[in-house]
This record gives sequence, C-alpha cells and structure tokens, in this order.
Amino acid sequence: MRARLLRRVEIGDGFVGGFTATCGGVSREPWASLNLGSHVGDDPKDVGANRDRLSRELGSPVAYMNQVHSNTVAAVTDRFPTGEVGTADALITHRGGCAVAVLVADCVPVLLAAPATGHAAAVHAGRAGMLSGVIAAAVGQLRSGGSDLILAAVGPHICGRCYEVPPDLRSAVCEAEPAAFATTRWNSAGLDIGAAVQAQLRRLDVRIVAVDPACTYEHDDLYSYRRSCHEGSGVTGRFAGVIVSK
Ligand SMILES: [Zn+2]
Repeated sequence: MRARLLRRVEIGDGFVGGFTATCGGVSREPWASLNLGSHVGDDPKDVGANRDRLSRELGSPVAYMNQVHSNTVAAVTDRFPTGEVGTADALITHRGGCAVAVLVADCVPVLLAAPATGHAAAVHAGRAGMLSGVIAAAVGQLRSGGSDLILAAVGPHICGRCYEVPPDLRSAVCEAEPAAFATTRWNSAGLDIGAAVQAQLRRLDVRIVAVDPACTYEHDDLYSYRRSCHEGSGVTGRFAGVIVSK
C-alpha cells in the first residue's frame, strides 16, 4: 500500500485536513515528485496524475485556486470542479462539497473550519496576502454563514530566521503587522509571516488548533521557492494544504 500523501491535522469532527509534502507523486526533477502546481513549468500530465492521487486518497474531488496574493475569497459550489475554480486566495467549501486546496512553496497555508455550519476554507497567506487581510476576509465569510467558532491549522512555511528581506521592507511590513518582525540566522532583516498570521488569527478570536513548525527552506521534503532560488534554478513545485467537510 502506498504511503499517505496527506499528513493529517486534527481540525474538528467532520473535517479532514492536512498538508502534502514532496513525495508520493510522479513529477520528475526539479519538481519531484508530488508537485500539485500547474503554473510552475511541470508537465501538465504529471500534475494531473498527482492531483488524481490526492483526490483518490481523500475520496473527494479537490478544487484549486488561481492564487494572486490578494484578499479575494471565492466559494466552490460544484461537487466536481475541474481545473482552477477562480482567481482568489481563499476558497470556501461546504459540508458534502468537494475539498479545497491552497498551494504553497514558502507562503503560509491556512486551513479554517467552521463546525457550526460545516463550512471550511483553504487560505493562501503570503506576505502580500497577509497584509491585504485575506485571513480576516476568509474568517468573516465563514462567520457570516453562522458559525462563531472558527478553528485554524497553520501549515509549513518559511521561518523568520530564513526569510530575508531588505530592511526597509521589514520596516514597512512591521508597521502594519508588528508580529512579522524577525532577524535571520545570519543577522539580517527578516520576516516571520507565520507569526503574523497567527497574531491575526488570535485577534480575530480564531482557535488555532495546529501549527506545523517545519520550515520549508530548511526541509528538503517540502517545496521552497527561496531554496530553489538559492540553489540557482528558481524552479520548484508546490505542496498543498487541503480540507474537506464530510
Ligand atoms: Zn527556516
């Protein structure tokens, strides 16, 4: 039996959620092997085969977004969507609906569950999306459905000791979100987007039930755009955070 593609997180009864890694797929280098991103130069047939494997394991079709670092929230109503369902950075599904996925390679993937309504969301929170309020937008949409309690799982992302930015960019980001302040391991200006996302979730009274501490830059079994740039090619795959409401 093949090893599971999804490392599951506990995010409430009735929800199945988790995060994939690089192994278990068919893509060749430099995307090897479970690349789920269709926009990174990989063979579409291989990406399709990888997405099929994830769907089979979940027992559900999976809807993907065309992510653009915005605060746009979309909802998927089709049980059997094909391809990207829309341009957005948060995607909401409902009980009995298809799974929703966020694709990342350093940005912060966030899964949200609304137990009272059975709605769930996958959110893409990179630096720009975090600053533009994508977390608050997604939480607001879920609450407007009638669930005050929202549970969150924060997936693997680049840590503040690895994410180097120019000092003026750190200043600008931290003026808006002080929790993002970080210093890299080599003592230059850094950003901790994961800490910023968690600060936003806490301010929104969202209950954080899981945080994956793995840093994408430091772990070869996760895709990291920054690491791929450091190694020269700047080409890599995308792993997913995915959630479905059964
Ligand atoms: Zn790191």
